[in-house]
Amino acid sequence: MARLSQADLVDLNQTFEERTPQELIQWASQIFGDRIATISAMQMSGTVVCHMIHSTGSSIPVLFVDTGVMFQETLETRDRVIKEYGLNVISLHPELTMQEQTEKHGVLYLNPEGQEQCCHARKVEPLAKVASQYDALIGSLRRSDGGKRAVCPILSVDVETNTVRINPLAEFDDEHLAAYIAEHNVIVNPLHAQGFSTIGCNRCTTPVLPNEPKRAGRWRHLGPWSVYCGINPTDRDPTHSPSIELPQELVDRILGRMTDYMI
Ligand code: SF4
Repeated sequence: MARLSQADLVDLNQTFEERTPQELIQWASQIFGDRIATISAMQMSGTVVCHMIHSTGSSIPVLFVDTGVMFQETLETRDRVIKEYGLNVISLHPELTMQEQTEKHGVLYLNPEGQEQCCHARKVEPLAKVASQYDALIGSLRRSDGGKRAVCPILSVDVETNTVRINPLAEFDDEHLAAYIAEHNVIVNPLHAQGFSTIGCNRCTTPVLPNEPKRAGRWRHLGPWSVYCGINPTDRDPTHSPSIELPQELVDRILGRMTDYMI
C-alpha cells in the first residue's frame, strides 16, 4: 500500500482545470475501473453528473443516501434517473428510521450538536458502511455554490472514506449548468422550480428568496448558513496534510507515474 496526500494531487489538479467534466469522468472510469461510484442527492448538479455518466456509456453506479426523510420529489427524481438513464442507483439507508431515532434520542436536528449527530447517523454512516468497496467517489460540488465550496479542488483525498473524491463540475457555473440542462433536456428535481436552490432532507431544507445566498435554505433554523452535513471532505474542517492509503500500483496510475522495476 502507498500514501496519497492532497499535496500529491496539486499538479494533477492544475492540469485537470483544462479538462471538460466528461473527460474527467472518462479518466476516472479508466483509472478506477469497478472501484468507483458517484454519489448523488438528486439535486440539479447531481442529475447533470448522472446524465454525463449515462451519455459517456459508463457503468459507474450511483450511490443515493436515502435518509428516510427525503422529499417525495427527490425520490421520484431518483426513480426517473434509474428508468430513463438506465443507471445502477444504489440507495443507502441509516440503521434507524427517523421515528426510531426520535424515540431513542429525541428530535436531534433542532440544535447544532444534534444536527451533527443526526447527519452523521443518517448520511455519513450509511456511506461509510459501503466505502471500502470503492477507491474513488464522484461528486457534484461546484465552486459557484460559494461558502466552503468556493475553493473546491477537482480531486481531493477523503480520509473518512479513504477514497479520492472527484468533482468534475467544480468549474461549472450556473450559466454552464443551465446550458447543459437545456441542451440535453436533463432530468431536474422539480423542487428547484419551487424556489429550492439546494435540496436535502425535508426536515432541514426550505426554499430561498431571490436575494438570499444559495445555501440559506439549508438548516435555516440553525443559521447563519454555515452548516454542512459532513458527507463531503471539502465541507469539513481540513485536517493537516490529509492523506489516504491505496495500492501502490493505483497511486502510480492516478499520478501518471511509470514505475521502472528494472534495477
Ligand atoms: S439534514 Fe436534518 S434531518 Fe437530514 S440528516 Fe441532517 S440533521 Fe438529520
